[in-house]
Amino acid sequence: METLEFQAEARQLLQLMVHSIYSNKDIFLRELISNASDALDKLRLATLQDGLEADASDLHIELTADKEARTLTVRDNGIGMTRDEVVELIGTIAKSGTAELLTKLREAKESPELIGQFGVGFYSTFMVAEKVELVTRKAGTEGHGTRWESSGEGTYSIDDAPDAPVGTSVTVHLRPSDEEDALYDYTDDWKIRQIVKKYSDFIAFPIKMGDDTLNSMKALWARPRSEVSDEEYHEFYRHISHDWSEPLEIINMKAEGTFEYEALLFLPSRAPHDLFQRDAGRGLQLYVKRVFIMEDSRELIPDYLRFVKGVVDAADLSLNISREILQQDRHIQMIRRRLVKKVLSTIKDLLNNNSEKYATFWREFGRALKEGLLNDQDNQKAILDVSTFASTAGPEPTTLAGYIERMKEGQEEIYYLTGESRSQVENSPHMEAFQKQGYEVLILTDPVDEIWVEAVPDYDGKKLQSIARGSVDLPKDAEEPEPEGDFAPLLTFLKEQLSEQIKDVRLSHRLISSPACLVSDTDDITPALEKMYRAMGQ
Ligand code: ADP
Ligand code: MG
Repeated sequence: METLEFQAEARQLLQLMVHSIYSNKDIFLRELISNASDALDKLRLATLQDGLEADASDLHIELTADKEARTLTVRDNGIGMTRDEVVELIGTIAKSGTAELLTKLREAKESPELIGQFGVGFYSTFMVAEKVELVTRKAGTEGHGTRWESSGEGTYSIDDAPDAPVGTSVTVHLRPSDEEDALYDYTDDWKIRQIVKKYSDFIAFPIKMGDDTLNSMKALWARPRSEVSDEEYHEFYRHISHDWSEPLEIINMKAEGTFEYEALLFLPSRAPHDLFQRDAGRGLQLYVKRVFIMEDSRELIPDYLRFVKGVVDAADLSLNISREILQQDRHIQMIRRRLVKKVLSTIKDLLNNNSEKYATFWREFGRALKEGLLNDQDNQKAILDVSTFASTAGPEPTTLAGYIERMKEGQEEIYYLTGESRSQVENSPHMEAFQKQGYEVLILTDPVDEIWVEAVPDYDGKKLQSIARGSVDLPKDAEEPEPEGDFAPLLTFLKEQLSEQIKDVRLSHRLISSPACLVSDTDDITPALEKMYRAMGQ
């Protein structure tokens, strides 16, 4: 037997669990069942795709409670873990951003959503356990299994388990009961049934207690919306997304005919911390006729919609389809196109009918969505339709359609100015003439704005025009330069002095109170874009 220390981050998280930072302790069982279900999926997949020789005919989860010993055991006959995997997966937290999470957790002790976002699943057992034992054997390996044991206080022990069957069992030694006994007796039949029904009903494998199967195993995406409660949808969303907060919107899709598929998608109500990290998990779950095939299938949804969570169940794909084939498959491409359309039309519905939800959506995901303006030509218009922008017209963001409605007589273009913040843009000298003459200007402050404005030629026939570029087409009398007359010597002097830095010096009417401003030529890149390219090392 060997005694090892938990990695520092893991230790800190365990501390938080032991001193239970949230009140709903029931969820530890959901987490164990969720892990068991993942392990069963993995075993089935390995037999389908990697030719693993293992018995996948009776995959299930077994719950056993012992009132005397005050233990609850969750056992699966899934993929199991090797000793090294136990050390790596249970003894450390490999996920990126853990340090950041811990700081946040310490700042806000009562925020279960944060833990949910990270899915620190297994450790949640220490909310109710004084000791946890895990015995496991990896499918397809010879020799002994592994026993792991810990009280969550900094160290764990690890040992050989000669007789362990394939799969994993986790035994939770419950803490001595407190006053709330009746509510928190996890050896109680009724309590266990209630938790399984509430949190794990949709799990695709039987969850058994004695001879009873406790869950209905019905795939949620295959059931009519009217028959599924919000609570069930939310639990399912939690299971697949590890996000604790309720989803903002639920999207059901069903296609029959030559190519059948069903989809259940969710728009989350908050952005994950890693939305803009390249290596973050993204994509949808792929099923084929109710059989789980793949996590994070990026082929099903474009990158700019990476925040969408959910499941696609396709009827006519091969069970052992690989990612490479998936990329080529025209059915998958077709599904992807339809999902994009459906997501965009759902966002449009929010915009038109539920301004509160739309505002949440846009705050959390607008920046990601706008990437689609660059990467998805086909849907550029549809994306612009559901985008909103800050504007000099008022504090509320506006759609481009709203802007066009307010355009002044004779105004042909949509004016915008990019910058780092609203106040920086508002105080820009470029703004002066436009504001004075009452032209509305869009205020674009996201880094991605610099780029998409270059890629989008117009909206509804109205060109997007930066007011920092060249000579903007303000009504003629305002923009006509005055005869240079008295200023000619000054202009020549400035041009000579600054010849290294600038192309030209012109008189302009775009300024009201500032003496001078820098403008780019129509084809030059903007200063902010220049800065961005420089930051990217180009
Ligand atoms: P998550 O499920 O979000 O990955 P957990 O803390 O719940 O996080 O589990 C950590 C890891 O431990 C899992 O990703 C999995 O690799 C492994 N694991 C946990 N439970 C089991 C199990 N019953 N069978 C096989 N592996 C498991
Ligand atoms: Mg888990």
